[in-house]
Amino acid sequence: MKELALYVHVPFCVRKCYYCDFLSFAEIPAEDRTVYFDAMMKEMGEAAAALPKQSNAQYEVTSIYFGGGTPSSVDPYQIARLLHQMQDYYRVSRDAEITLEVNPGTVTLPKLQEYYKLGINRLSIGAQSMMNHDLMHLGRAHSVADFYEAYRNARTAGFRNISVDVMMGLPGQTVGEHLESLRELAEFHPEHISAYSLTVEEGTPYYEIYGTGREAADNILGLSKLPLPEEEAERAMYHATVNFLVSMGYHRYEISNFAKNDAEPERYESRHNKVYWTRGDYLGFGIGASSMIANERFSNVRNLADYIEAQGDTKKLRKDVTKLDLKAQIEEYMFLGLRMAKGILPEAFEETFDVSLSDLYGEVIDALVSEGTLAWEDGALQLTAKGIDVSNRVLSYFLLEDEEAEETEEEDAAGEPKGKEQT
Ligand code: SF4
Repeated sequence: MKELALYVHVPFCVRKCYYCDFLSFAEIPAEDRTVYFDAMMKEMGEAAAALPKQSNAQYEVTSIYFGGGTPSSVDPYQIARLLHQMQDYYRVSRDAEITLEVNPGTVTLPKLQEYYKLGINRLSIGAQSMMNHDLMHLGRAHSVADFYEAYRNARTAGFRNISVDVMMGLPGQTVGEHLESLRELAEFHPEHISAYSLTVEEGTPYYEIYGTGREAADNILGLSKLPLPEEEAERAMYHATVNFLVSMGYHRYEISNFAKNDAEPERYESRHNKVYWTRGDYLGFGIGASSMIANERFSNVRNLADYIEAQGDTKKLRKDVTKLDLKAQIEEYMFLGLRMAKGILPEAFEETFDVSLSDLYGEVIDALVSEGTLAWEDGALQLTAKGIDVSNRVLSYFLLEDEEAEETEEEDAAGEPKGKEQT
């Protein structure tokens, strides 16, 4: 049985946050949302039919993730019909992890109870900060009180696996304020916390304020131009986050993700995200959604009208179809594997690619271990705390020259890489 993760993109939001460059829209009328969901129902069926037939294994869906956008801003009926349809087209494991992204202020107790009845067993709540002045500056549609209410209602509805997103490196934020936010959040004891740094993306209102370097951008949106923390302060926020959450009984299993410790060690780690990070197979539905099946990567059209017009026809929907060659597979394995706290086991690498890690990267690894950005722990290669601070530079050393990958490919007697997607 081969694991498959499903992602459903719900691109509707109450309003656009000032820093947001996700594919999402505010103020789309309910009728248009219904038309979008109709098209997604068709895509799910077409995508199931287009899956490569496995001779000795069938796909089993082990995780489903409703992301966006704000999936909790639409009528739960839309989520319900997608979930029901999925059961018709895919073999969904009885204990599949089913996550729904929720924004405070968009859910009531009855709505959360409805999700729970539908079989959704994990919520990911976008808190971002526990300070109202941060939320206002970010242009979020909720307040801290809205978060409290949504969280308590989620517990009352029965949810026992809740993840909360927080951001750091916010305008005007100090290390102390960020820690204060985390302290307040930790009092709720969520099972999982994702802690990300703010990035200023082109095309957003924040870019006008912080990205252009123009003084005239000050006071755009009626906001004062609070300074972004210096890089050093941002790194201090990250390390303070790790130390604090570890002291509160969490473990970091990926650079930005923390799960509550449990007798079953990986219980609260995101099963869905781990499929991405371990290069498993996943299918995404909806505009802009990405997929990777058997080392073939593709993503859907990003335009809402084009998506609806295609009516689920995967030939019209899928763009940028790329079959990953061995070089791309190895590089991705290294980048993603090193982001995870477990790191990379040489035996697993060799089993996957039929070449030894030291033959391919021995010199690079020795140099990075000597400078203290990588370390061997329990037989696995891992990023150190120092390495996390400069992870982009460290990971760039694992880009391969074309000839190196070609040599590896020639050495593989079968002529095919032993990617784990091909088992
Ligand atoms: S709620 Fe999320 S997806 Fe929607 S606008 Fe804000 S950041 Fe973007």
